[in-house]
Amino acid sequence: MKLTIIHPCIGRRRGERGYVRTWQMEPLPAATLAGLTPRDVEVKFYDDRMETIPFDEATDLVALSVETYTAKRAYQIASEYRRRGVPVVMGGFHPSLCPDEVARYADAVVTGEAEAVWPLVLDDARHGRLEKFYRSTGRTDLRGLRPDRSIFRGKRYLPIGLVEAGRGCHFKCDFCAVQTVFSQTQTRRPADEILAEESGECERSELDEGTEFLRATLAEGPMASNELYERAKAAGISRSTLKRAKKPAGVEARLPEFQGKWTWFLRQSGPKEPEKPNP
Ligand code: SF4
Repeated sequence: MKLTIIHPCIGRRRGERGYVRTWQMEPLPAATLAGLTPRDVEVKFYDDRMETIPFDEATDLVALSVETYTAKRAYQIASEYRRRGVPVVMGGFHPSLCPDEVARYADAVVTGEAEAVWPLVLDDARHGRLEKFYRSTGRTDLRGLRPDRSIFRGKRYLPIGLVEAGRGCHFKCDFCAVQTVFSQTQTRRPADEILAEESGECERSELDEGTEFLRATLAEGPMASNELYERAKAAGISRSTLKRAKKPAGVEARLPEFQGKWTWFLRQSGPKEPEKPNP
């Protein structure tokens, strides 16, 4: 099964061809949803603020987390997919507060926190029996929460991330969707889990993936750096990650005089020529 998660932007200005890029931080709700998704589901992620959505790419289900300020754009995106016969599920603050409005644009609407109902939504989608509403009541225990930030790989986000320490709010600002949806309650994650996430486990796993990629790709022999960058990009690994992975992967680079292109190779299998500074 293929799941496409999309983070909608707030829309486009009239006459503007490109997308509005007001924010470029990683959208944590998308990573949270990906983390809740079983590994046998193939997950694709697109950030509508930064990239073009490939509406014609094959997928079995589209999921959008919707705020009130992104609702209009989310409806446009949903309509594109539904016109192609792809079911769309929406959740988040806006669907929790306005489920009937959202239901006009979605095949399924999740109200409340996703954790309790997401496995059921996926199972129903897998069997072609999505229901219109999935209502999660009560509060979710945040222990064991594992956002999957691998969906952000290869995208140019600011080098700053969000870590969810708690969810909801005890205050009662009457204009605020947070306290309305959560009825002035707040749940919190265990401190050790927050610290583990903040310490960069995800970053290490990204480096691990780059390391594995280099070892596997260069096992067959040396390769031009430009070709490696292209292959890594296709695999969702950024150029900077690839460069950092050179050392743990045991990769060196040389500049052959007769070709003039930087070539990377595994240290134990590569040529013994004198090295020049890495590119
Ligand atoms: S109720 Fe909303 S606006 Fe007020 S403090 Fe809590 S999160 Fe902030």
